[in-house]
Amino acid sequence: MTPNTDRNEQLFERAKALIPGGVNSPVRAFRAVGGTPRFVQRAQGAYFWDANGKRHIDYIGSWGPMILGHGHPAVVEAVQRAVADGFSFGAPTEREVELAQEIVDLLPSVEMVRLVSSGTEAAMSAIRLARGATGRSKIVKFEGCYHGHADALLVKAGSGLATFGNPTSAGVPPEVVQHTLVLEYNNVAQLEEAFALHGPDIACLMIEPIAGNMNFVRAAVPFMRRCRELCTQHGALLVFDEVMTGFRVALGGAQSVYAKAIAGFRPDLSVLGKVIGGGMPLAAFGGPRAIMEQLAPLGPVYQAGTLSGNPVATACGLATLKEIRKPGFFDGLARKTAALVDGLKSAAAQEGVALCADSEGGMFGFFLLDALPQNYPQVMKSDSQRFNRLFHGLLDRGVYIAPALYEAGFVSAAHSEADIAETLAAARDVFKAIG
Ligand SMILES: *Cc1c(COP(=O)(O)O)cnc(C)c1O
Repeated sequence: MTPNTDRNEQLFERAKALIPGGVNSPVRAFRAVGGTPRFVQRAQGAYFWDANGKRHIDYIGSWGPMILGHGHPAVVEAVQRAVADGFSFGAPTEREVELAQEIVDLLPSVEMVRLVSSGTEAAMSAIRLARGATGRSKIVKFEGCYHGHADALLVKAGSGLATFGNPTSAGVPPEVVQHTLVLEYNNVAQLEEAFALHGPDIACLMIEPIAGNMNFVRAAVPFMRRCRELCTQHGALLVFDEVMTGFRVALGGAQSVYAKAIAGFRPDLSVLGKVIGGGMPLAAFGGPRAIMEQLAPLGPVYQAGTLSGNPVATACGLATLKEIRKPGFFDGLARKTAALVDGLKSAAAQEGVALCADSEGGMFGFFLLDALPQNYPQVMKSDSQRFNRLFHGLLDRGVYIAPALYEAGFVSAAHSEADIAETLAAARDVFKAIG
């Protein structure tokens, strides 16, 4: 037998012996699509090179953070300067204040923020704060939305609205999710029923305003309006999980998109991550002063972190935000993303492949379906076998999209028109094969 010279396969074999599934986050293992994950050697701009030295056009960008592309010179320089001054102090720094100021300036709903290290931590802390601030226990979430892997959020719908959720992970006791109510996304009737039944006990409703963890599904404007009205009416907090959409779909996040459609719209709390760290472990949650002051050391809600507001991560985040604040940045990014999505639609139509797609700012999704889904069950009607053939066809041609049909895609400022054209040529080829 000839020895296997594929470096990705070699590394995956070693990794599997040492790390569960060979990966440090499950979706990276390619379990949904089959095959061998690409081990990244290095990345620059819109590309990464795998362990075999093969170049890929990257439409994942670390699942969103790399909005400038990989290795943007201004960001690299800021990080290098920060590293030279020390990695971590466990004491406050000027850059934390600067980053807090940036977030407050960009999001009108936020008067104060707390910096943390991951989206999971930010969402978990926002829920604790909502419960502490309202003195209530129950939380509402939606099927198909992901808010990190805190125990209370790993839950699926129970048998009816009077009952609460069931854990979706082993190791989560049923009692821990007994206060979590899981509803269908974009279902106004269910939302109204849930508040009619449980309104006085609901601490918060947490939502991905444009859901990027069931591919790409927008909350319809009338649905979002009803979320806002019911929360206000019942004294519950509306929590926007903008870990993915924040500084990605627009400079002001998805909340700025909904504020254009709904007069005076704002969420109560916002959860941020991904882009604000520019690829470093950094996340945040924020909201009005009166609520945020419930946090320790001022208030009774405990929350802390040894590496929170890390000086290297804040330097990376600040340098990233500085670039995306430049005039015209989001117009250019949105145009490019729309060109990709429109190109995919017309290439599919030419080859007789049913495909629909949507995008906002630098985030996009496409489905091998006739119409855009409105909720998780509709997303899951996608033909996964065909998606897998599409995925591997693109991968073979050096185009790297998410290895699962329920994930969004991301375009960066570094993607050129030539990259988009190369992607569309590859897609047309693959559509022919799967047509
Ligand atoms: C990625 C993500 C999270 C979790 O963030 P981590 O940094 O992976 O813990 C939470 N919410 C949303 C909407 C996300 O996309």
